[in-house]
Amino acid sequence: MTAEFGSELDGQVAIVTGASSGIGEATAKSLAARGASVVLAARREDELDELAAQIEDEDGETLVVPTDITDDEDIDTVVETTTDEYGRIDILVNNAGVMPLTHIADADRETLQRTIDVNLTGLITLTHAVIPTMLEQESGHVVNLSSVVGRFLQSNSTHYNAAKAGVKMFGDSLRLDVASEGIRVATIEPGAVSTELLEHIPDEEIKEGVEGHVGTMQALQPDDIARAITFVVTQPEHVDINEVLIRPTDQVQP
Ligand code: NDP
Repeated sequence: MTAEFGSELDGQVAIVTGASSGIGEATAKSLAARGASVVLAARREDELDELAAQIEDEDGETLVVPTDITDDEDIDTVVETTTDEYGRIDILVNNAGVMPLTHIADADRETLQRTIDVNLTGLITLTHAVIPTMLEQESGHVVNLSSVVGRFLQSNSTHYNAAKAGVKMFGDSLRLDVASEGIRVATIEPGAVSTELLEHIPDEEIKEGVEGHVGTMQALQPDDIARAITFVVTQPEHVDINEVLIRPTDQVQP
């Protein structure tokens, strides 16, 4: 465990998507370390089981629910399993994402579609499924992972930029509709974080270019983002941190 155990989130229930690696894994550990029961959602069940064992070794509480965020039935299952087990949902960290960068002219439709489906449509659909529970509770916290490129452009990233800008707009619009009901909404916009995300870039030249760019800086670690998310969700109820843009100190572009 990187975080020290505490009690700020005792009794709270969090769903973290994309918990099988990177930022999601670090966030799940951090929330569990502060007392939250954490529902681990992603497709790779083995990784989720391993993470659950690590958290439970530290007396944390988890529930593994294998989930493909692009599958409507999986989305209903993760929400129903959570409310059946714990009776509430206090925190939803919409973190699952893919970044298959490619020039628009070289992109196949499946890549474009998947980028929007995972990063944006899945996030909207899961939020839609969770909101009734939060409305009933008159409390809840939705934390959406956008990106620095939701605000500033990068090349070979039309579909990813569009998805991440959509995440930001969705979060801000959601807040308009639910803030008066006690539900808080935050958008997290990381710069370069050292995770598996770059490994799935299909175009070797683009991948090398991005890796070279990231290599010029001291990239953030997943724990750096987990710390920011934990800060956001441990504020007093009257404090709603809407947006956090967090870059490596030496990241200038984008
Ligand atoms: P990782 O590749 O380590 O993590 C991505 C996570 O998303 C994995 O746990 C993966 O799990 C999950 N995922 C992918 N597809 C699906 C799917 N169809 N259904 C459910 N889960 C899925 O990368 P990061 O930790 O870096 O990424 C986390 C978030 O942070 C993403 O939204 C990313 O866009 C964002 N971000 C990352 C930055 C970075 O520099 N790393 C910068 C800015 C934003 P599995 O394969 O098991 O399903």
